Amino acid sequence: MSTYADFHRRSIDDREGFWAEQAGLIHWETPFTQVLDYSKPPFVRWFVGGRTNLCYNAVDRHLATQADKAALIFVSTETNEEITYTFAQLDREVQRMAAIMVAQGVGRGDRVLLYLPMIPQAAFAMLACARIGAIHSVVFGGFASHSLASRIEDATPKLIVSADGGSRGGKVVPYKPLLDEGIRLSAHKPGKVLMIDRGLTKFDRVEGRDVDYAQLREKHLDAKVPVTWLESNEISYTLYTSGTTGKPKGVQRDVGGYAVALAASIKHIFCGNAGETYFSTSDIGWVVGHSYIIYGPLIAGMATIMYEGTPVRPDAGILWHLVEKYKVTVMFSAPTAIRVLKKQDPAFLTKYDTSSLRALFLAGEPLDEPTARWISEGLGRPIVDNYWQTETGWPILSVAHGVEKTPTRFGSPGMPMYGYDVRLLHEATGEEVGANEKGVVAIMPPLPPGCLQTVWGDDKRFVSTYFSSVPGKVAYSTFDWGIRDNDGYYFILGRTDDVINVAGHRLGTREIEESISSHNAVAEVAVIGVADQLKGQVAVAFAVLKDASRAADPADRMKLEGEMMATVDKQLGAVARPSRVHFVTLLPKTRSGKVLRRSLQAICEGRDPGDLTTIEDPSALDQVKTALAGK
Ligand code: AMP
Repeated sequence: MSTYADFHRRSIDDREGFWAEQAGLIHWETPFTQVLDYSKPPFVRWFVGGRTNLCYNAVDRHLATQADKAALIFVSTETNEEITYTFAQLDREVQRMAAIMVAQGVGRGDRVLLYLPMIPQAAFAMLACARIGAIHSVVFGGFASHSLASRIEDATPKLIVSADGGSRGGKVVPYKPLLDEGIRLSAHKPGKVLMIDRGLTKFDRVEGRDVDYAQLREKHLDAKVPVTWLESNEISYTLYTSGTTGKPKGVQRDVGGYAVALAASIKHIFCGNAGETYFSTSDIGWVVGHSYIIYGPLIAGMATIMYEGTPVRPDAGILWHLVEKYKVTVMFSAPTAIRVLKKQDPAFLTKYDTSSLRALFLAGEPLDEPTARWISEGLGRPIVDNYWQTETGWPILSVAHGVEKTPTRFGSPGMPMYGYDVRLLHEATGEEVGANEKGVVAIMPPLPPGCLQTVWGDDKRFVSTYFSSVPGKVAYSTFDWGIRDNDGYYFILGRTDDVINVAGHRLGTREIEESISSHNAVAEVAVIGVADQLKGQVAVAFAVLKDASRAADPADRMKLEGEMMATVDKQLGAVARPSRVHFVTLLPKTRSGKVLRRSLQAICEGRDPGDLTTIEDPSALDQVKTALAGK
């Protein structure tokens, strides 16, 4: 294969041949009989009839050649722990966890919900589920009781695995009270809750429901749990992601396609090799954590660093210290983490030897050019932007330096990755737009291996959400605006829907609105995303009170604002907390009652509010301006 362009072309023109080759990167217990089944568009099945297992590929497969090599490196700067598990040790811990789960009655197809901080047991639990064919659903530790309840209700888990608490910036964050409240709010109740007691904070146990990990582990020290071989299209996990409705969607993934996609991406995009170390600063609650803390690196036989801590504690050199210490070759982080470091002494960037690093990959939110330049020059290592989504599981746009060393371009995540037939489509006509013209980033189906199979329990929603928004075409919409330059490099210009991205965390404004509306003083509220220097975007709320006089006094306003923020903290988690709640007596709406979100956002960002011909009452915008001016 001579050029990346050829490589990409073949992946689209000869999908079956291309992916059959990539499938050789993983172990198949039984070979597949059909590479691609696209008989029910837009649903796709990859590697039909093949039987494999994610845990086997991530752990067992490496025991013959690198049992004593590092597999999982746990580092917590919160609790000052540092433990390396070799593949052999990881295998033993996964077997024990799998045995505990089996003893709790968990089997193939059952759901297990994980609400855990970044601790090794989280990796054991994910891999144990994969081993026995249970479907895991990890809920980000930063989410609170309402977010948990809606996920518990949708996933209907037999077992929940949780811990007493996490720690952030040296402060203990109790998990158990939030979990208990989440279970209380949910109509579905799990049979058992497996509690990992880190000794961080005291918690109440529910008789008959809560069981103790340490005790059960002792019982299963020598357990051997056979691998459950799964047909390639069985479900490996669901991961909830925010959309434009208040109800999060369970992104559902398969087994074989996901394993192949990850193995191929480590080879072609991340250029990682067995025996090396991968370091992703993400969290297991996000898709990056699934793909590039746990499964991707391990499937490739790499050691993976699982880091509990922030980029600035004990000091802003911690990430680079870990790179030096563990000779990290591939690193993955988010632009916000780099913007946080940008506020610190740049000397930290050169304090440690980071020459092992082949590249630093950044994703999750737009990587602005100044930040990209700063880190690239400061570190002296290549920076690779990559654009993708929870739904796709691996990069849509990037550069594939394992295939060809195409140059990167600041401000652009790159070009379509192999397997993705990316088009920029006109919002109204569905026609392809030309170079340098703005369009919706769309992918022509079938989606490549590794992408979502459907929305958990809701095939209709899968089709109506993702494949029905482009006029006249069945195309997968990313709901991002994009533009392509004359050389084929793409640039992402923001979301087409009401999803916002705060420090790489994707949040639905509807969910935040619903939470604020639950405060009894609120009549109506609109939440929008506003540009922020550090976090990319922050949520800002405009609330209409039932009794406007309650916000007359600045002290009352502050009190109410604080209460509303606390409501969001309690229900959704601090990640979703708006940076400000402004009070107005009416929201800017069209005559048909739609909130003029883009105008609101423009005013907040000091831009021109655009076309206001449809506005019902122009004085609403004056109120917004007055509120922003703090009057
Ligand atoms: P999530 O599913 O939480 O990973 O969020 C996916 C969304 O984050 C995308 O649809 C984009 O809006 C944004 N995003 C992710 N990576 C990038 C990137 N490299 N550049 C620009 N936006 C990105």
